[in-house]
Amino acid sequence: MKKILIVEDEISIAELEKDYLELSGFEVDIEEDGEKGLDRALKNDYDLIILDIMLPGVDGYEICKRVREIKNTPILMVTAKKEDIDKIRGLGMGADDYITKPFSPSELVARVKAHLSRYERLTGGNEHRNDIIEIRGLKIDKTARRVWVDGVEKQFTQKEFELLTFLAENPNHVFTKEELFKEIWDMDPAGDIATVTVHIKKIREKIEFDTAKPQYIETIWGVGYRFKI
Ligand code: CA
Repeated sequence: MKKILIVEDEISIAELEKDYLELSGFEVDIEEDGEKGLDRALKNDYDLIILDIMLPGVDGYEICKRVREIKNTPILMVTAKKEDIDKIRGLGMGADDYITKPFSPSELVARVKAHLSRYERLTGGNEHRNDIIEIRGLKIDKTARRVWVDGVEKQFTQKEFELLTFLAENPNHVFTKEELFKEIWDMDPAGDIATVTVHIKKIREKIEFDTAKPQYIETIWGVGYRFKI
């Protein structure tokens, strides 16, 4: 089932959109706050995002820009003001479409369907579309569990792959070694915190051009690590 995220602070509008989309067979999540909406959009894999512009926390422009930095998910911007359309166009922020309030729910559903099929055509119309993360020269295919650096495939152990993917999926977030250990090694009785350092070193040797000046995984001294975007 296709999953759609609605970021909208007017809950009556969000609920109406959700009802119509669910009737058309979509699974829908609603987030009312901009910051939470951004977080959810970055951490989850939605097939399409419906984004209001005026939001508490982070506005729709910023969310669109940040999502586009790492994902190609179709984004449909919703605005109450005609002036915003020029801004959406002018900023070239990567929104796929926009719709002005008030709109009919059936129009929204039609647009959503059109963008989903367009996106499927662009990505090869593959039902089992691979889940891919691309950040600069680094490409991670989560489905196939393969990694390329500047087009060259690199081999990773299972834990290295999980650690790299976890960091890349949560960019700009500083994690302590303890947090990473808990996330990747869970309750592994054989492991200890030093394992994290060893794995980071091995990952860097494979993805960094110069391990002394990491471009991807940054060490935050005395705290932990962060994946830079
Ligand atoms: Ca709003």
